[in-house]
Amino acid sequence: MGFLTEEEISHLLPAEEAAFPSPVPTQIVSSDEYMPEPQTREQKQVEVRLIEMADSIAKKHGTSRRSFFQSASGMAASFVAMNAVYGGFFDATPAEAQTPEMANERARKLSSQFVMDTHTHFLRDDTRLTNFVAGREAVGKFGWNKSLAEKTQTLDDLKYANYFKEIYLDSDTRVALISNAPSEIPEDWFLTNEMVFAARARVNKQAGSRRMLAHYTITPGQPGWLEGIDRAIAEFKPDSWKGYTLGDNTHKESSHFPWHLDDEKLMYPAYERFAKAGIRNVCIHKGLFPPGMETRFPKLFDYADVRDVGKAAKDWPQLNFIVYHSGYRHIGGDPAVAMAEWDKTGRISWVSDLAEIPAKYGVKNVYGDLGQLFAYSTVAQPRLAAAMMGTLIKGLGSDHVVWGTDAVWTGSPQWQIESMRRLEIPADMQKKHGFKPLGPAEGPVKTQIFSGNSVRLYNFEKDKKAILAKADHLALAKQDYEAHGAERSNLRYGYVAKAV
Ligand SMILES: [Zn+2]
Repeated sequence: MGFLTEEEISHLLPAEEAAFPSPVPTQIVSSDEYMPEPQTREQKQVEVRLIEMADSIAKKHGTSRRSFFQSASGMAASFVAMNAVYGGFFDATPAEAQTPEMANERARKLSSQFVMDTHTHFLRDDTRLTNFVAGREAVGKFGWNKSLAEKTQTLDDLKYANYFKEIYLDSDTRVALISNAPSEIPEDWFLTNEMVFAARARVNKQAGSRRMLAHYTITPGQPGWLEGIDRAIAEFKPDSWKGYTLGDNTHKESSHFPWHLDDEKLMYPAYERFAKAGIRNVCIHKGLFPPGMETRFPKLFDYADVRDVGKAAKDWPQLNFIVYHSGYRHIGGDPAVAMAEWDKTGRISWVSDLAEIPAKYGVKNVYGDLGQLFAYSTVAQPRLAAAMMGTLIKGLGSDHVVWGTDAVWTGSPQWQIESMRRLEIPADMQKKHGFKPLGPAEGPVKTQIFSGNSVRLYNFEKDKKAILAKADHLALAKQDYEAHGAERSNLRYGYVAKAV
């Protein structure tokens, strides 16, 4: 369908050897924003059970382990294995794992669910951010995932072509918002602001409907930043704003311009422009600053948590403050630390602080994004994922939690979508903490989270109706992709060339 050029396709390498291709990762997938933890004992158990299950079911159906993993039954099997190891957090049955018809029917039915992912990334073609590659190589070298050591790692898997495939073809995501991160070193922006809006124009033009939204990234305190906002309003017409209060998150060692959301002198002139332009969604990166990071960059610590959100939200009720990563602190650290904190105190840094803002400040315009914290916890420790969902929904409201995956740092977001569809907060946790159940995949709470809230925030009702009313070019391309035997690629990175 012409979404990718020959050049882009040629850069995509098959990643067959690159990872144990289970439907859901059995270890935490790395991102630039944190280093992965070694595979835990429980994750190893999940992997062993999954392989056992796959081999016996695949044998029964006369198919290979690989094609089983690529099937809807294989996806179900992952959650069955996780339930066996962690306890029954996920709605998945052995029958679904063993009966392809049953699993396919469920997957087919749910694929029409409207999923809007407002937190996604890819990197510019000339990126120098080899930390992604180094991170993957480290994972191989330390033996956390031996297969990563067997293949040269490449940045191509983090660029546009693979992004397009993993978001729009390999997952049920209908609409994605392309986000970004700035740097004081111009070459080291993930994408330039111009590239972000060029990508939005490209996708939407070829799709024939609004399938991509885009951030304009602000750089408070840096020369010309307010003029940049004026230009963005006039030329780019961004869907929302993105900012990093740490200043330069990519080069923390040389970040000269950290800032606070409630700095009246610095920020309020920008908010005035946002409000006047009617572009009211302010997306702010928060958290991902574990104790080890604090030791290395003590000067940035004051800017990493959510203490500056409440006052800004109170002073600017006409804007929406959407806190990315929901301020979750411990990514990059040991997830067991966050779990232990929850078990001891009933709190999670700084997710609990974020959840308390509406009550403390009497505001209704603070939102939590699930980018990275969901991926990180649902694999490593589903109980932590359940506790975070309960905390966020109780404090912010189920109408104030929005779906974001931080893909493609962690590959195609389909496993996160499936995980959210199936996750439930255990009854004892509900009772002890006053949490309401998350309910079924298409129940009211998950519907709000997957898209209802973002449809409202982005005034997207009309566009949603248009996308659902008639198959656009992208929908046709996806049908074609699936019809040509493109069994869903479960590879975290990689490309199935024959499928396009
Ligand atoms: Zn991100």
